[in-house]
Amino acid sequence: MTFVFGPMESWELEVLDQAAECLVRARYVIALTGAGLSVESGIPPFRGPGGLWTKHGEPPMDGYERFLRDPKKAWEDRLNPAGPMRELWEALNSARPNPGHEALVALEELGILKCTITQNVDNLHRTAGSTRLLEIHGNATLIRCINCVARYEREEIDFAELPPRCPRCRGILKSDTVSFGEPIPSDVLAGCSDEAERADCMIVAGTSATVYPAAQFPISIHERGGDLLEVNPYESEITAFCRLALRGPAGELLPELLERVRSRL
Ligand SMILES: [Zn+2]
Repeated sequence: MTFVFGPMESWELEVLDQAAECLVRARYVIALTGAGLSVESGIPPFRGPGGLWTKHGEPPMDGYERFLRDPKKAWEDRLNPAGPMRELWEALNSARPNPGHEALVALEELGILKCTITQNVDNLHRTAGSTRLLEIHGNATLIRCINCVARYEREEIDFAELPPRCPRCRGILKSDTVSFGEPIPSDVLAGCSDEAERADCMIVAGTSATVYPAAQFPISIHERGGDLLEVNPYESEITAFCRLALRGPAGELLPELLERVRSRL
């Protein structure tokens, strides 16, 4: 998707300056990112125009139950993807991080950004170099044991027999991507809660932050008097709670923000 993004108006520059001030003054800044950031890297969204589910139909809402009922079949489908999954895999394989991902890494390296919580499963934050990363809906390139929560790269796993088993505990392995009806892995959820409790400022980029459980984190920060900075081309459900709203694609605004933070350090 291409955003037409003209030269910035003076009030927009003013909001960017205020946002940079906010980041520099805050004690503990975290970020929450969502599909909007991935779309800028060429990954199709699930819903809305061009969305995978819009085109191919909504997936079953009981994905996790289906997996548990027949993990062998789920793995057969997974290893020979069709329809929306095939399209998603192709997009994931060719996608590269955009300047928005890279700006978050630079903010982390400056010591400003303490943690990134993402709802995206596309591995782009990792590829860009984020090290303090919590992937609340999992990571599509990883495989997780549903028993001991250990995570593995695909190459580490033997697929000769399906479902594959955990090398550590022999538990059944599943894609790390959180399925419909599947609880968020406890380690990630606990990490997100800890980070949200410590944060007094959150960058909310490319997400309307309405999907539970990610939605609770910005709201809890706001309720404790922290500042939310929205980076999104569109107004969203979270806008009303944000101290500042930067209107435009994250891939353009986050680098602008980074530059202004740098000049204040
Ligand atoms: Zn295990």
